[in-house]
Amino acid sequence: MKEYGEFLSEEDKMMVTTIRDFVNKEIMPVRQQLDEDTDRGLVHHVLNGLAKIGLHKRGLPESVGGLRTNAISLEVGYEEISRGDSGIAMTLSVPAWVFGPAMRSRNDRVINDLCTPFCKDEFHEACQAMTEPEGGCNIESADYRGKEIHTIARLDGDEWVINGAKQFPSGASVADVYLVTSTTDPNLGEEGIALIYVPAGTPGLSFDKPENKLGMRYTDVNASIHLDNVRVPKEYRASLEPGRDHQSFRNFLSWGRLSSAAFAVGNAQAVFDIALDFTANRFYGGKQVRQHSLQAAMLADMIIGIESARFYYLTVASMFNNRKVYGSPYSDAQIAKGSGAKVYACDVAIDVCNKAMQLTGSYGYMKEYNIEKYLRDCKIIQLWEGGAELGRIDVARGYYPMVPAD
Ligand SMILES: Cc1cc2nc3c(=O)[nH]c(=O)nc-3n(C[C@H](O)[C@H](O)[C@H](O)COP(=O)(O)OP(=O)(O)OC[C@H]3O[C@@H](n4cnc5c(N)ncnc54)[C@H](O)[C@@H]3O)c2cc1C
Repeated sequence: MKEYGEFLSEEDKMMVTTIRDFVNKEIMPVRQQLDEDTDRGLVHHVLNGLAKIGLHKRGLPESVGGLRTNAISLEVGYEEISRGDSGIAMTLSVPAWVFGPAMRSRNDRVINDLCTPFCKDEFHEACQAMTEPEGGCNIESADYRGKEIHTIARLDGDEWVINGAKQFPSGASVADVYLVTSTTDPNLGEEGIALIYVPAGTPGLSFDKPENKLGMRYTDVNASIHLDNVRVPKEYRASLEPGRDHQSFRNFLSWGRLSSAAFAVGNAQAVFDIALDFTANRFYGGKQVRQHSLQAAMLADMIIGIESARFYYLTVASMFNNRKVYGSPYSDAQIAKGSGAKVYACDVAIDVCNKAMQLTGSYGYMKEYNIEKYLRDCKIIQLWEGGAELGRIDVARGYYPMVPAD
């Protein structure tokens, strides 16, 4: 646990010990099977196991049984789970991400109606539906200020009527609750952004079949969502206060990217551990592979990257914990920090996977060594939430104003 330096409280250390024990026993031995788990029985077995140790309640409202959790503790937990499988960490993390806006706005109707089951013993999936077929970055980019959102929410009496489509969100078709990013009018820009909760089974909500993808094959389910005259109560909008949903939307970027950094570091650490072990047990020129200076330097570069990426995300998490000093996570300055942590951690994780394959030769290319699994998984972490490109632009935006798009 020394790798976390002084960042962990005594309680966090106990949490890390518990998660490590679970990951080593319940996830590590079935890492490849999770990728073949077409009926998701094993995926749910693992998620329910994590729920048994209370991890699914972290970040959810205390009023319905959730656990208040600070940013460091939350993200370290995600790193630890990602050592086993980052798709599992992603799916576990979504409910806290989804109910964040309702908690921020003290929307008791949503919390009582929709969040309560998420704090019971069984794990329930949620879905954060932002990306649209026309583009994910257009929606997430601060440049467009909500003007590129094509999913329209219209108030009809006491109900919102939602029409539009979403592409790729995690949990689509298997979640119990969907948080749909929409606009009441694209011309209103940021003030038009409306985050609306839609329970599964609402008439007009439908899905295409799940995507067939490279990594996180069944641990995270992605599908297109169609919203055709979907009606929900007016109170299911996270906040009716103008502009507040826009702030919550920006929180998705900072928190989502910070968690992505923790997922990527977990992947990288797992791959480093595999490479360290392999190079101790394989020899050339009469010496362990890792005793040759060429390979020792590669291992050193891997761990320098991992430690830098870990302390980067931990430092940003500590800033998120201290809003009085650093401002809100939805500020440009803090989105820049979360984005930087993600961009850097993903670059490191991909590089660590590549280096591990060099160190292990053809063995590392084989499924049984698991390196290829982590490479497949961390590639999507790099691509989602605006990818490495928008992430970098948001880092720059934290330091100087960027000229807005027309
Ligand atoms: C496994 C998985 C899980 C996902 N989970 C979710 C989820 O939970 N919720 C959700 O809403 N979505 C989710 N997504 C979607 C994902 O976040 C988007 O696909 C991603 O943000 C990129 O959007 P896009 O694919 O539409 O690419 P585009 O927006 O079309 O971008 C294409 C390319 O252009 C670059 N680009 C675009 N605009 C800019 C710009 N302004 N500046 C610089 N570069 C730019 C992009 O970086 C990218 O390289 C998930 C996708 C996958 C595969």
